[in-house]
Amino acid sequence: MVVPLPGSGSIQVKDTIPLKFLASKDASDLQPCYTNFDISPPRVELENVRLTKSSSTLGGKHGIASSNGVHELLQCPVCTSSMYPPIHQCPNGHTLCSSCKVRVHNRCPTCRNELGNIRCLALEKVAESLEIPCRYQSLGCHDIFPYYGKPKHELQCPFRPYNCPYAGSHCDHVGDISTLVVHLKDDHKVDMHDGCTFNHRYVKSNPHEVENASWMLTVFNCFGKQFCLHFEAFQLGMSPVYMAFLRFLGEDHEAKSFSYSLEVGGNGRKLIWQGVPRSIRDSHKKVRDSQDGLIIQRNLALFFSGGDHTELKLRVTGRIWREHC
Ligand SMILES: [Zn+2]
Ligand SMILES: [Zn+2]
Ligand SMILES: [Zn+2]
Ligand SMILES: [Zn+2]
Repeated sequence: MVVPLPGSGSIQVKDTIPLKFLASKDASDLQPCYTNFDISPPRVELENVRLTKSSSTLGGKHGIASSNGVHELLQCPVCTSSMYPPIHQCPNGHTLCSSCKVRVHNRCPTCRNELGNIRCLALEKVAESLEIPCRYQSLGCHDIFPYYGKPKHELQCPFRPYNCPYAGSHCDHVGDISTLVVHLKDDHKVDMHDGCTFNHRYVKSNPHEVENASWMLTVFNCFGKQFCLHFEAFQLGMSPVYMAFLRFLGEDHEAKSFSYSLEVGGNGRKLIWQGVPRSIRDSHKKVRDSQDGLIIQRNLALFFSGGDHTELKLRVTGRIWREHC
């Protein structure tokens, strides 16, 4: 394995040393590693090693491809997730992540030897020196991060995929906004509307069944963006209520540049809610539980519906507008 250095040639690190450690998972390879391998130290300080995107010596064009060997090394051989300090190793050099170490009862999962408490500082240092692209590179994030800083960024990366905003089922679908819009339409049969005003009628024949599962979702296209209007019945404390709120299909900072209003009424009375759409980064449940929307007590909803309280017939009108142009 050749690790290129910025500006100054490359160092030669023997492929066989670290890769063998990971590859030898079978019981036939029980000899102590240090008798098999030449472990003479590299001539260059590892702290100076930078694997850059431009490295072509390893045969790949991109950062991820070119540093695959190192990436493989930093993958826990047991759970295959990326390893972070403290990285452990057995006396034979088999590496292991710290959460797996707790679970293996002091036995190396690779060679079954007693594990002890040995840290693999060399690998920790190699990891520290790496700079790698965000995992959402293919979704548009072109930033490069230090190995240890990458997970923190990825949790907040604006290019990370969104969860499906549909609240009625535990849908695992994730993707960018345009993918999700197609998914909502095709897979959840959600109503799509163009325009920034709406006039919706919610009719339910048995309004006394207030279940968390009763909800409706409509998607609005306006200002070239998409908004989800949620309408649902749930139990708020002891009281059955209906709630309507709007979520924005996009990031929170962009959601804040919009406002919306909802109106519901009947029999000469009216409730008006004005709010700011919430980003779909906030889960449907989070928004609902924060009561950030139009809440209608069931008694009032039935009063608005007219009739003999056996049918819910609510007309919700609303408007979305942009606050800062
Ligand atoms: Zn692990
Ligand atoms: Zn071992
Ligand atoms: Zn990113
Ligand atoms: Zn879905």
